[in-house]
Amino acid sequence: MIGEPFIMVCCSDFAGQVRGKGFPAAELERRRKLGVGLAPTAMMINCFGRITDSPWGPRGDLVLMPDDDPRAAIHVDFEDGTPPESFILGDILTLDGKAWQCCPRSYLRAANKELEKEGIHILAAFEHEFYYDGVPDRLGSSYSVDAIRLARHFPNVLIAALRQGGLEPESFLPEYGPRQYEVTVRPALGLQAADRAVQLRELTRGAARRLGARAIFSPMVTRGVVGNGVHIHFSLVDLEGRSVSYDPSHKYGISSVAGSFLAGILRNADALCAITAPSVISYERLRPNSWSASQTNLGFRDREACIRICPVNEKPAADIASEYNFEFRAADAAASPHLQLGVLINAGVQGVRERLPIPEPTTRDLTQMSENEKMRMGIRPLPQSLSEALDLLESNSRARDLLPQELLEAYIMQKRGEIRQLEGQSDEEVCRRYADAY
Ligand code: GLU
Ligand code: MG
Repeated sequence: MIGEPFIMVCCSDFAGQVRGKGFPAAELERRRKLGVGLAPTAMMINCFGRITDSPWGPRGDLVLMPDDDPRAAIHVDFEDGTPPESFILGDILTLDGKAWQCCPRSYLRAANKELEKEGIHILAAFEHEFYYDGVPDRLGSSYSVDAIRLARHFPNVLIAALRQGGLEPESFLPEYGPRQYEVTVRPALGLQAADRAVQLRELTRGAARRLGARAIFSPMVTRGVVGNGVHIHFSLVDLEGRSVSYDPSHKYGISSVAGSFLAGILRNADALCAITAPSVISYERLRPNSWSASQTNLGFRDREACIRICPVNEKPAADIASEYNFEFRAADAAASPHLQLGVLINAGVQGVRERLPIPEPTTRDLTQMSENEKMRMGIRPLPQSLSEALDLLESNSRARDLLPQELLEAYIMQKRGEIRQLEGQSDEEVCRRYADAY
């Protein structure tokens, strides 16, 4: 069969879907100057492929411009006779070449710039869990060698694809749930960390598809069965790349700048869920006893904290500093990684600018703490539904300030449409639809 190399330029949109337009690879140089045309309303396509509402209707024109940075481009040949995965991430610009207010990737770029004004960069890695439907569900296979064996070539193919894509794969493991796996890559700075998350999701889907299966990132595949989380690990570094997160004199090692950054996130964390955990079923996962997150706490080595202080082995302080990191757990893969990281950075920067005090970490089971104690520590429950999260975002002026107004309004409009679209459907049907979509 004949076949010519083909490239897509794309972006991770409000729905956390990677969408864009394609052209023959021979056109790339021209497309680097021209980009590809896009209607603003394309951003309003929800995760189920529907436009329920749009602030722009059929009006307006934008340009999706492929990023020249080679790290934004994926070209992975699976060498199995299928065409390679070839896509380049890009920014959405207005026709006069400015960043479009609703472009998630441009939003993250702007957040990084604000952080840089404080003399800081963020180093981050998105840890992903997903279901792989190419394996039988064997009782007792959690974390087992047999779960890897059952997946046959999948782990090997996936790791090779991530390596070829330049993502620096770090781990692949069987997880607790039936057919559930987890994959991680090395941390990277700001924009590249979120780009890697987008690329990782697509390469994982690409590897699974080539083996006749699907990788499903939906936060809750089966109600009542453990969910798929995205845990966003991060640390702060100075402009030379030295960690500024760690202070050996603090009981838990938190530096004052990192503490302010964490406090900025935590005081808005309930409202931020509308961005970081943005599907109707995301809230089935954010419940107590799910090993996810259910309150706005900072937890010391606690896998149910909203932000966890991750463990580091005992070693000299200089070595600890380079490994010391925090993990934001109230996130999932229904969101755009660019929006997720951008909103966390903007919230953290607010905290740094206001010099908020270091939050007091929790060390005990939250269900054992009294309401008074939690109130004293500023710990509130996370929202119980997407609708509640959107209300919190809309009514909290400090949280609203973290997003450009046009983006915020369009985003909320899309999410409310998504909720309406699911009205009247059974819980099982809703889970099934999200599993199809992600
Ligand atoms: N599956 C859990 C979640 O939804 C995370 C389990 C773990 O700590 O790896 O976040
Ligand atoms: Mg895990």
